[in-house]
Amino acid sequence: VQRLVVKIGTSSLIHANGKINLQAIDQLSYTLTGLVNEGKQVILVSSGAIGVGMGQLGLAKRPREIQAQQALASIGQSELMTVYQQRFAVYGQKISQILLTHDVLDFPESRKHVHHTMEQLLEWGVIPVVNENDTVAVDELDHRTKFGDNDQLSAIVATRSNADLLVMLSDIDGFYTKNPHKFADAKLIDVLHEITESSLRQAGGAGTELGTGGMVTKLKAAQSILANNKMMVLANGANPSIIFKIMNNEPLGTLFV
Ligand code: ADP
Repeated sequence: VQRLVVKIGTSSLIHANGKINLQAIDQLSYTLTGLVNEGKQVILVSSGAIGVGMGQLGLAKRPREIQAQQALASIGQSELMTVYQQRFAVYGQKISQILLTHDVLDFPESRKHVHHTMEQLLEWGVIPVVNENDTVAVDELDHRTKFGDNDQLSAIVATRSNADLLVMLSDIDGFYTKNPHKFADAKLIDVLHEITESSLRQAGGAGTELGTGGMVTKLKAAQSILANNKMMVLANGANPSIIFKIMNNEPLGTLFV
């Protein structure tokens, strides 16, 4: 693997009490910097802006109104980037911010510019930190067209940037035969070569208050990764240094290939 995209979900970045999980961000910064120092090119797709905004304002529940969510994203995004900037700087790693919307990637002209910018950043050894631009993406927060808490965005970024691997970090060890939070007999699926209707049924809905994507959007992401002959690993982001093990081909999480 020469170029990889790492997607980290809200549940891995924010504690149940709403505070930013600084330890996770620190470990993520350390790990991704290590990979860049080994000569790899790394793109980070990070969720969490709305969750961080909620923490800043002390809100326990995600508000329903779009404008409130967008305002929270605006608050949270800059706070989140500040934290990333600080933690990556400790390890001497430069990062940048790329905020994307669906239409940016739909139009060939803007898509081309994003592509060239990304290539330039990677060539310079910078880690682009990508997120959906929730503040302007009016209908993106709506479930009809939403990327799904960045799951599908990360797949689009991975395929468009021709990355060899998408590492998706969540609050769960991988994809199970059914939701393990509800069923004690759920079994971890080690490898999946195809996303079928029955896999999508096994996925159920989002499991947490903060996470919006759930397993379905992760499987949809895996679907487009497989369609492009790329690989994806879904693993637990509690300790982001798990990425080192994934890069060492240790069998963990669910490998989609
Ligand atoms: P993130 O914030 O990391 O994107 P989500 O909460 O959106 O995470 O999605 C992960 C959750 O999906 C799990 O914690 C679990 O509750 C739920 N889930 C539903 N079905 C499954 C399944 N078959 N295997 C694993 N997790 C599942």
